[in-house]
Parts: sequence; C-alpha cells; structure tokens
Amino acid sequence: MLPTAAIVIMGGGPAGLTAALELTGKTAHNVVLIEQETQVGGISRTVNYKGNRMDIGGHRFFSRSDTVMEWWQNILPVVSLDLAEKRDDVMLVRNRLSRISYLRQFFDYPIALKWETLKNLGFVRVLSMGAAYSHAALFPRKPEKSLEDFFINRFGKTLYETFFRDYTEKVWGVPCNQIASAWGAQRVKNLSIIRVLRHAIMSLFTKSTDIKQKSTDTSLIEQFLYPKFGPGQLWENVAGKIMAHGGTVLLHHRVTGMEMENGKVTSVHVEDTATGERKSFPCSAAISSLPLRELIPMLDAVPEEVHAVCKGLVYRDFITVGLLVNKLRILNRQKDAASGSRIQDNWIYIQEPDVRLGRIQIFNNWSPYLVKDADKVWLGLEYFATEGDSLWALGDGEVIDMAVRELVLLGFIRAEDAVDATVLRVKKAYPAYFGTYPQIGKVQEYLDSIPNLYPVGRNGMHRYNNMDHSMLSSILAVSCILDPSLNKAEIWNINESGEYHESK
Ligand SMILES: Cc1cc2nc3c(=O)[nH]c(=O)nc-3n(C[C@H](O)[C@H](O)[C@H](O)COP(=O)(O)OP(=O)(O)OC[C@H]3O[C@@H](n4cnc5c(N)ncnc54)[C@H](O)[C@@H]3O)c2cc1C
Repeated sequence: MLPTAAIVIMGGGPAGLTAALELTGKTAHNVVLIEQETQVGGISRTVNYKGNRMDIGGHRFFSRSDTVMEWWQNILPVVSLDLAEKRDDVMLVRNRLSRISYLRQFFDYPIALKWETLKNLGFVRVLSMGAAYSHAALFPRKPEKSLEDFFINRFGKTLYETFFRDYTEKVWGVPCNQIASAWGAQRVKNLSIIRVLRHAIMSLFTKSTDIKQKSTDTSLIEQFLYPKFGPGQLWENVAGKIMAHGGTVLLHHRVTGMEMENGKVTSVHVEDTATGERKSFPCSAAISSLPLRELIPMLDAVPEEVHAVCKGLVYRDFITVGLLVNKLRILNRQKDAASGSRIQDNWIYIQEPDVRLGRIQIFNNWSPYLVKDADKVWLGLEYFATEGDSLWALGDGEVIDMAVRELVLLGFIRAEDAVDATVLRVKKAYPAYFGTYPQIGKVQEYLDSIPNLYPVGRNGMHRYNNMDHSMLSSILAVSCILDPSLNKAEIWNINESGEYHESK
C-alpha cells in the first residue's frame, strides 16, 4: 500500500536513479520511480545480447566533481584487473585510446605531434593547416555565432574541415554553420589547439596516474572508471539499493499525464506497458527526467509560446549495431604490429566521407567482461539518424548489411568474419542546440513557476549532459525538496557555467 502522497521520480536513467537514492531515508514520503523500459539505466544502460554486453555509446565514468566520483565508487569500488577476476560488483580503471580514421589512416585523438601524423596528412595539408590556424588566430570570426565559427576560431579552417566537420555533421545531420556555438562551449569546453599542443608536450614529460586528472581538459583525459559489466551494472546496483532502502522502482510503466491544482503537481498518471493497466500516484513533489517535449503537454495552463518552443525542440536519434566478428583485419600500427594483437582503441571516430558510419566501439577494450568469448571481437557500430529519415526507416537486416559492407570497405574486417549481429535504436539520444533551443529560457521560466516540479537530467533539461551533470542536477533537486528555502531555478545553472561546483 502506497501512502497518499509520494515523491514521484519520472525516468530511471542516471538522473532519476540518483534522485531516488539521494531521497530514500531522508524523507517521510514514499519514493516512487517510474521507468518505461524493462530495465533501468536510460541511455547509460547495458544491453545483454546472447551474453555479449553492449554499452550504448561507450560510457566513460569520469567527472570533475569529487561528489560524483565518490558517489560512483560508493556503489562499485575500484579494483585491479586481478581482483576483478574474483569479484563482480567492481569498477575497473581503464586507459583511454581513441583515434580518428581518415584517408584510411589512423590519427591520434587528440592529434599528436608525431612524424607519422605529418606523413599521413601530407606536407601540403600540414602547411595549409598552419596557415589557416594563423589566419584564424589573427582574424577570429566575431561574433562567434555558429559551431563552425567556434571550431574555426580554435583550430583554423583546414583542421576543422579535416577532423571536425564531417563527423559533427554526421552526428547532428545539419551543417555546422546551423548549430549554435553554445554546443561547442558545452562539449569541448576550453579545448583549443594551444591546449591540445600543451597537453601533447606535457604528456611527454609527465604521466599522471591520478584518476581525478584535475588539470586535464575533459576531452583529453587518459583514464576513466568503468563497471566490470558496463555502465548499466552500476545503475542496476543503484536501483537495488533504492528498493533495499524502501523505495519503489516500477519498470515498464510509462508516465502518461499529470494532475495539477493551484499551480502545483498533485498526481502522476502512469500506464503499465505490459498489461495496459492505468494507475495514479498522488504526490507532494515530482522530479522529471522526461524529455521536455513530452513533459510540457502533460501540464496545465501552459502559455502558447512555451508550447511552441517545446514543439520546436529537436532531438537526434541513434542506431547502434552490435557486431560479433572472429577478428579484425587491422592491427595496431603503433605498437603491437609484430605481435598481431588486437588494436587497443576504446572507440574510433570515422571521419571518412564515403560511409554513413559515425563511430566504432571496441567493447573488448572497455572491459574484457563485456564479451562472452574472449577469442571474438565485439563491436558497436554507431549511426546517427532522425526518427523517420531514410536511415531510421531501414529494417534491422538492412542496417546490419550496411554496417558489415562499410566495415569491409574501410578495411576493418572481412565479410566472412562477421558471425552475429543485433540492432538497437535509441530515440532522443541527443538534445540538439538548434531548432527552438535558443528560446529555451521561456520553458525554464514556466517550469520555475511550478514550485513542486523539478526538471533534471539530459532531455529533462534539454542539455548536452554527461552522466555527472545529470546526477548533479538531481542532487541539487533533492536538496531543494528537503530545504524549500533553496532556489530551484539554480538547477538550470548546472553544466551551464562549465564546471559547476568544481572549479578549483
Ligand atoms: C553516444 C553517447 C555516448 C555517451 N557517452 C557518455 C560518457 O562517456 N560518459 C558520460 O558520463 N555520459 C555519456 N553519455 C551521456 C549519458 O548517456 C547521459 O548523460 C545519461 O544517460 C543521462 O541520464 P538521464 O537520466 O538524464 O537521461 P536518460 O539516460 O535518457 O534517462 C531517461 C529515462 O527516462 C525514461 N523515460 C522517458 N520518457 C518516459 C516516460 N514517459 N515514462 C517513463 N519513463 C520515461 C527513459 O526510458 C530513460 O530510461 C553518452 C550519451 C550518448 C548518446
């Protein structure tokens, strides 16, 4: 029997789960979390396909926030690979290696000052990069309006066209000059050619073994934490703890609407997607990580202009193919060519314009425990799409055929080495910083006027959040619920000013 007024949390991704765990034991209200899928974790879940585990996107557990780093390690402690053999509920420390495939060559990410890099790029292109960078440094584009301006001001036109443009346009499906520069500020923060070069030079002399990597730009971090069985393992553990502390986690239940009285949310309506049964949960407060485009139509007295902004918010969807192969054709050209061992990259950006493939994950290198048979290579082939476009409309078999064909074309595998495959489609994987995004302030203002509704998380705030910022928004929302003197509008400032709470 549920008490009359619960605190209802909508969405069981990192934001919702963090809120629920932070609340349990600290409030007299029952804590009820509603998740539409049959498992928790949201985009950060792990999908198990015949014993091979897929991480949707490849999730590095890394944060500038000590609070978040400690929170994660309280759920799953960090152990060495030897100990991980004996214990399951643990995190590993992994080295990051990611490279860019371009001109059928590998380039280090971040670009390293090496003879090999210069040789692969060619003398003329390198000269052009230097000249274009000097031009950008002397005559920066002002005002810096678009993502194209952002990249060119920091890297020069030639480097931008070589290493940023095609991949970014694959991700977003629109030209970089139509994307607000805010996305660059959010995603690559302070990264610039000077910082990349400084990092390359410093790395020659110092090797940090501290997982906090406080002095390193987030895009350049070299180590990260990773749950033994993928990110979903941590979030499933969190769900277990919420229930152990008396909270309720309802899977396959979809939030369908809300009741409001005197400007406050009074109950949340849900539907059991397995049985079709409908229920209502009276609530004293509601925390929402639902996409804003879904949440706003559920509320009362929404001004027309707020509806209009919400309808115009754009999302990018994501298709990932889990592909099991006997072996890769390419060998590690840097170190292990002679030994013939598998390449060590966690992921490879595909900057080649003749394929639709955006990125390849090599799950074996995230954690060997993601892969059932250690002799096989378990890959994630990532395609960026928009619900309803020609890519999204392809059947699963067609997507798999395309993925195998493109990998063969790029020289990564032989077709006969592909042994099994599955397709995952993730809707609203990326909240876009174009469409009506520039007017999002109107939505924020309206939501701030509802005193007991707390929008948190990635789509919940339409913010390009990693797990840590989604979690920090929930931690602050819980503080506001427990201490009503706090200003809940402050939640929007998380991840707005870069390293919220964390600047040292
Ligand atoms: C390709 C890719 C790579 C990434 N890599 C990293 C990384 O390396 N490190 C990192 O920290 N982060 C990474 N992220 C970001 C990370 O996935 C998100 O920040 C995180 O999952 C956001 O958590 P959330 O709870 O805010 O949202 P979500 O994970 O989207 O969870 C929202 C939940 O709400 C549920 N929901 C939606 N509507 C309803 C409804 N009506 N009723 C009930 N439930 C509903 C959804 O099913 C979902 O479970 C990556 C993301 C992508 C797409």
